[in-house]
Order: sequence, then structure tokens, then C-alpha cells
Amino acid sequence: MTYQNTLAFAQRLDEQDTLKEFRSKFLVPRHNGREAIYFCGNSLGLQPVSAQNYINQQFAAWENLAIEGFFKGDDPWLGYHKKLTRTLSGILGAKEPEITVMNSLTVNLHLLMVSFYKPTKKRFKILMEGGAFPSDQYAMESQARFHGFDPREAIVEILPREGEYTLRTEDILQKINEHADELALVLFGGINYFTGQFFDIAAITKAAHNAGAYAGFDLAHAAGNVTLQLHDWDVDFATWCSYKYMNSGPGGVSGIFVHEKHLSDEGLHRFAGWWGYRQDKRFLMAPGFQPDAGAAGWQVSTSPIMLLTLHKAALDIFEEAGGLAPLRKKSDLLTGYLEFVINEINASKNDELFKIITPKNKTERGCQLSIVCKQNARETFNYLTDNGVIGDWREPNVIRLSPVPLYNTFKQVFEVGRVLGASVEKN
Ligand SMILES: *Cc1c(COP(=O)(O)O)cnc(C)c1O
Repeated sequence: MTYQNTLAFAQRLDEQDTLKEFRSKFLVPRHNGREAIYFCGNSLGLQPVSAQNYINQQFAAWENLAIEGFFKGDDPWLGYHKKLTRTLSGILGAKEPEITVMNSLTVNLHLLMVSFYKPTKKRFKILMEGGAFPSDQYAMESQARFHGFDPREAIVEILPREGEYTLRTEDILQKINEHADELALVLFGGINYFTGQFFDIAAITKAAHNAGAYAGFDLAHAAGNVTLQLHDWDVDFATWCSYKYMNSGPGGVSGIFVHEKHLSDEGLHRFAGWWGYRQDKRFLMAPGFQPDAGAAGWQVSTSPIMLLTLHKAALDIFEEAGGLAPLRKKSDLLTGYLEFVINEINASKNDELFKIITPKNKTERGCQLSIVCKQNARETFNYLTDNGVIGDWREPNVIRLSPVPLYNTFKQVFEVGRVLGASVEKN
């Protein structure tokens, strides 16, 4: 597509947008009496208008059925998690039994490490992307310590080459090979939260397996954003959160993927709880843990029904939109347009004032662009905020902007370009 930096062009793209009606399904925060331009779906997705209704139905079930709500009513709570797995399996590229919803993200990382981090004296290292999200770093450090290893030895981080911001796949694969004999696990983000780089999950998984290690992924920034094929890519395990691109509310319920080939592996440890017990026999309350079939056998506690309900409200919108494929198509255009309007500012000033560090290649990114501001970074960010553009700030000089195909428009992208341009003149 050849873009143009005009309002008329942006409006034309909005008119042609087959997803344009979906915007009205979300509640948008306001700024000075008008709708804010919310480009922060990478941190917290917007509230579906339908969410309150979904929750009110659960209040009614709780009121009218109370304990019987687990077994009676339209959506009995006992198997409620199963109502989410079909849509999720499409979004994650998984078979339905490979998926379940439970807990929150970092908790699930720890639980999955119980199954998939089985270090020995010789094979104990965890390979990660350098500068992973802090929660993942802390989780891995504490896991290494828990097993009696010094995190400084057990955790191997891959950093970008000198002068580069993102990782080259060839360097990741080489690092895996280099440590092949000592690697227990390769644990990577699907998309790096800071740079927006979408990693080659299939290639990383293959290299990990060749090295004799498991491959696991934190898909916080990937789930509901980019096309994933976890089953076909042979990923061992993954987890994600639902509150970023999946719009399921702050602290919303997380999910896990465990590859089919591991589902009946009795050699894998798990930290068990009654909600992971086979559902048909759970209420016999018998001693001796017998896992439920599929990833559901990793569940521990009673499902947080209110959170699952919010997740369902949001996932039903993905269903209505026809799944991820049409969203991806719009997203490529939308993020491409944002890249274009930013580069127009650079071109007009003959200077790379805004350096986009997210890969240019569409297959290596999702919605998000991470922008290094060459000058007056903080002032630029404040100027955006003051003008109703909500992005987010990462020290020391990075602004992350994520136009989301479900609720953002081309006109908004044009507007963000205009505000950024004005901030250059002002700051
Ligand atoms: C958002 C995010 C988290 C947050 O984890 P919670 O347990 O949900 O607080 C963790 N890891 C990554 C990579 C993230 O992007």
C-alpha cells in the first residue's frame, strides 16, 4: 500500500475498513471532553461494552443459584473454562485440549517451570532474551535459586549486537548451539515488550529441541496480537495474559498451553490442586491426584468465574470479528501507517528524530512500534498525553504506541502523526 499523509486518505481507509463497526463495542476513555486516542492496548486493552452485562448475569446466577451455580443455570461454573478454549485455540494456534485458562501470568510461568525446568548438574541453564520483562527475569532467577543454582551461571541472556536494538534470529540460534550441552530450557517472549520484536518461535523451538532442551514462551504481548501456531511449531509450553491485546480486564485471568505430546507424560511434575483433578471424579474427594485430561490437568484452584466471564465477553468479540486473520490484516496496515507518518516527520526535518526500533519487517512485529526519541523525549511524551494521545513511556527515552485493529482507526494514526509533528515544533 502506498500511504498518504492526509486526513482524506486516512478517512478513506477507515471507510473501507471491514472491522470499523467493532470500535463501538469498546468503552474509550475521554480527554478534555472527547475520546482519547488510546494506543496503549499493549498494556491494558479497553473494556468491552458487553462486559458489564456478562458480569451481571453471573451476579444473577450467584444470587439465584448460589452454590448450585457450579452445576446449574445456562453456564454452570464447573466447566466454564471450557467455554473459552475454542476461541483461544484459534488465537494461539493450538488444539483445544492443549489450552486452559487459570491463574495469572507469572504464577503460571512458575507452575510450568515445575513441569519443564528439570535441571541436572550438567544441564541446568535457561536461555532468555536479554532485557526480558522484569517479572520473567525474577521468575527465572528465583527458579534457578530454588534448584540450588546461581542465577548468574544458570541464566544465559542474548543481547543485540553492538549498535542494534533487536535480536537477529541467527544469533539466537547460534547461542542455543553454543550452550547446547548445558541447556535445560529456552524461555523466550513471543514479542519483546520493549522493542515489539516478534521472535521466530518455530526456529527457536527447533534449535532448542536439537540442543535437547525444552522451549517455552511468554506470549503476553503476542496473544491476540499476532498469528501463532503453537501446536505446529512444536512449542512445549506457553503462557500469556488476557488483559493486554485480549481486553479481558486488569489482572485478568491467564492461560496456558501444553503441547499434546506432553499431556499424558506422567514423568512431568506438577503442583497439583483439586481443580486439576479429573472432573468426573473430583467430587468423590478421593486421595491420590489424578489429573484431568489435557492442559486442564494443570489447574490448581477453583476457577475465578468473574475473571473468566470478562475473558469470555472479550473473546466473543474476537469470534464475531472472524478470529485473528482479519485483525492481522488491518493491524499490518494500521501499524504500517503509523510507521509512515512518523517517518514523514523525520523526512521533513532531515533527521531521525523518532527512531523506530521495532523491526520494519511485518512478519517480525505486531501492533506495537517502539520509538526512541532523539531529543526532548519526556517532553514529547507529555505533549502527546496533553493532547489526548495515550501511549506509554519506557525509560530512558522510548515511547511505545500500539494501534489496535479492534478499536483504533487510521484517522487516529494520522492525528498522532500530526501531534508528534507539532511537538517537534514546540519542544
Ligand atoms: C505484562 C507482562 C507480564 C505481567 O505478568 P503478570 O503476572 O500478569 O503481572 C509478565 N511478562 C511479560 C513478558 C509481560 O509482558
